[in-house]
Amino acid sequence: QFHMIKHEDLTWGESLGQGSFTHIFRGHKTDQRDEVTHTTEVLLKVLDANHKNCWESFFEAASLMSQISHKHLLLVYGISVHKSKNIMVQEFVKHGALDLYLKKSMSVSVSWKLDVAKQLACALNFLEEKNIAHGNICAKNLLLAREGDPSSDNSPFIKLSDPGTSMTLLGKDVVLDRIPWVAPEVLDTLEIELECDKWSFGTTLWEIFNNGEAPLQGLDLIQKQQFYEHFSNLPALEWTELADLIAQCMQYQPELRPSCRSIIRQVNSLITSGNTQVFAICLVQD
Ligand code: ATP
Ligand code: MG
Repeated sequence: QFHMIKHEDLTWGESLGQGSFTHIFRGHKTDQRDEVTHTTEVLLKVLDANHKNCWESFFEAASLMSQISHKHLLLVYGISVHKSKNIMVQEFVKHGALDLYLKKSMSVSVSWKLDVAKQLACALNFLEEKNIAHGNICAKNLLLAREGDPSSDNSPFIKLSDPGTSMTLLGKDVVLDRIPWVAPEVLDTLEIELECDKWSFGTTLWEIFNNGEAPLQGLDLIQKQQFYEHFSNLPALEWTELADLIAQCMQYQPELRPSCRSIIRQVNSLITSGNTQVFAICLVQD
């Protein structure tokens, strides 16, 4: 089903932190092609030893990513199993996670952000056409392959990371902690449908335009749950057309959320209307 990578072919580098039931390392993978040794920089995602029972779901995420190919989807090279260690070997993306990037960058232009939004919408459209729900869309899972430069024609380039272990196995607390990215209906069903990704797209847009600030930061799990129980909405952005798109995506009734084609159309229209006036509003916000 998926490509197995020999543990001997991996070298381990610095730790990049922890994810949902994972430890993340930088590393290298070597392989022999045409009698030449090639070395590739990789990212190694190790499933936590105390969550070994999740391995099937973890590898399912790896398998999903290696079966489909799109320029805005992260490359997964394969998996490696060593003793009791389960490892996902994936492409190392140079500039890391988008939320961190936005937090540390002093000023990122509106057109840059819209470019990123459009690329994510394209990836979602591709997944929608294939009838695949991702289930873990957020700025942290958008990796920045190229920084770009808003002042020139060099645009950013993002890659959507793997969804990781399924929410059914992650447990209630992790799911609650994913409020407001996780669509409200998932709390009841724990099932991921295509519409769930539209909700998460809305949340991710909000994050991007708030410079990587985590929405509902500081709320505990009970307060987060109440946010959904009261059908609350995130604070609206000042740019009305953008706020409207976010509101459409983050509708509590899944069937009311727009199609990916409609999302792309609206992002395109934001890009064309991104005139000096709008630009000024967003600068004031920053
Ligand atoms: P989750 O399933 O919740 O997304 P995870 O296991 O994917 O969890 P993350 O929290 O998404 O872990 O990632 C941890 C950090 O590792 C990110 O903030 C990012 O900086 C870095 N990272 C993740 N994937 C890559 C990658 N392919 N290339 C470079 N850096 C990465
Ligand atoms: Mg991730």
